[in-house]
Amino acid sequence: MNYLSTRGGVEPVGFAQAVMMGLATDGGLLVPERIPQVDAATLTAWSKLGFQDLALEVLTLFVGEEIPRQHLRTLIERSYATFTHPEVTPVVEQDGLRILELFHGPTAAFKDVALQFLGNLFEYLLERDGGQLNILGATSGDTGSAAIYGVRGKERIQIFILHPKGRVSPIQERQMTTVLDANVHNIAVRGTFDDAQGIVKALFNDLSFKSSYRLGAVNSINWARILAQTVYYFYAWGRVAEGDPGKRISFSVPTGNFGDVFAGYLAKRMGLPVDRLVIATNRNDILTRFIQTGRYAVGDQVYQTLSPAMDIQIASNFERYLYYLYDGDSATVRTLLEQMQRSGHLEVDAARHAQACADFDAAAVTDEETQAQIRATFAATGYILCPHTAVGVHAARGRSDIICLATAHPAKFVDAVRDAIGREAAQPLSLQGLMDKAPRCVDLDATVDAVKAQLEATLSTGAGA
Ligand SMILES: *Cc1c(COP(=O)(O)O)cnc(C)c1O
Repeated sequence: MNYLSTRGGVEPVGFAQAVMMGLATDGGLLVPERIPQVDAATLTAWSKLGFQDLALEVLTLFVGEEIPRQHLRTLIERSYATFTHPEVTPVVEQDGLRILELFHGPTAAFKDVALQFLGNLFEYLLERDGGQLNILGATSGDTGSAAIYGVRGKERIQIFILHPKGRVSPIQERQMTTVLDANVHNIAVRGTFDDAQGIVKALFNDLSFKSSYRLGAVNSINWARILAQTVYYFYAWGRVAEGDPGKRISFSVPTGNFGDVFAGYLAKRMGLPVDRLVIATNRNDILTRFIQTGRYAVGDQVYQTLSPAMDIQIASNFERYLYYLYDGDSATVRTLLEQMQRSGHLEVDAARHAQACADFDAAAVTDEETQAQIRATFAATGYILCPHTAVGVHAARGRSDIICLATAHPAKFVDAVRDAIGREAAQPLSLQGLMDKAPRCVDLDATVDAVKAQLEATLSTGAGA
């Protein structure tokens, strides 16, 4: 399978190159040249597979011949052996509420599903093709630790993770900064997540820096992450549709960078009978406003909310959706994105807006509603939602045949949960004892130059050279 840039400025590249490239060299995002189609008989057959076998089938469609099937199988098995639930991503039912639990990996958030795989995939490709990789990423909370756990101790990889200082939960911070492997470098920037992400984007767009330091991405712009996340939509559907290929199911997806819900969109385009995809945002509602108005416009500020992993203004995967909304017309995508960069907003025409409303529902959920949802679900079922999951559950209210994605374990968000229900969720093993471990982290101003100098200094000492 070949991959193209949403902005049309890259010669087709294979799967391995697309994974190693991360962001396309023309500033766009990589997308497959066509979306593989899955027919009804295949859906029925897939609904009987375990998670790992299903992942092998889904991923093979996008990897093609580039990785031998047996190697891909090994990669998948190694990636999900770190999950503590035998089903990897089980669907649990609580009094009529269906929850797809995505938090059984080593950092207790859904990003492990993609990043355990991506870490192993990077290692495999680097060993096969030779070379080193320096991963640079920005995190609003969960990506960083999941990425660090994905690559810790891997010989050919150094990882630099920027997080907004003081704006991730204490547990999230400790999850990152207490990993003391020599290849792990944490940087706290004095600014917001968007500042951190802006710095990362600027360094990736500095093409000479990017190539001389062999920078790679783990943010949700990496195609392999989308792909790994697509698997659990098929898996969850299989758990509730009982092999009936006509059974349509909706999903409610707590959304920030639009990676997770885009994976659901991809599954739907592949032929999974998805009814509605609900984009559930918090007060940072650029995507909800887009679905309401057809106008994608940066708001006046990033609000801190109870669901910090979704506190972002610009959803980096949205460009992939625009590409499909415009039927692969990369010239228009480029024009729209340039307009966005200049003026902070873009607008799609009425027909495209109607299409977007056909593809997605959206709702913005306040902190008060989030807390009330945690409380209501706990009162009704005894089940504790993390605040991100609660945003999705609230957005799904009143709908039937819907699965709510649980994107993090509630024990990661102690304060929000305690404020809502007066108690804490029991910690999974992976979170126990974290606050007692010694951290390691460098603080920097939120400027491109400061971060660039730090990378140069670290890498010139021989690490990752
Ligand atoms: C990252 C994250 C989200 C948002 O996912 P996107 O793919 O960025 O839309 C939601 N909830 C949690 C817990 C997360 O870590």
